[in-house]
Amino acid sequence: MKTRRFIAGAVCPACGTMDSVRMFRSETGRDYRECVECGFSDEMDVNPKLEGNLPEARITREESVLEDHTDIIRFIDDPTGKK
Ligand SMILES: [Zn+2]
Repeated sequence: MKTRRFIAGAVCPACGTMDSVRMFRSETGRDYRECVECGFSDEMDVNPKLEGNLPEARITREESVLEDHTDIIRFIDDPTGKK
């Protein structure tokens, strides 16, 4: 049994078509991706160590960026009175 699902927003690295890449898991438990437009396919290289570290770093960076944006928006909104 293979489960295939399209990856939203994914761009095929071979032909550049968006939303044409779908991923599926083989009988050996490996994840593959393939493009339905050009037939491109390769194995998705999933590194468990990287997966554990990346989300934490990403969240920390997004939070600091959001705070900066909030401060700037308030500063601009007050003098103009616009909402
Ligand atoms: Zn393609």
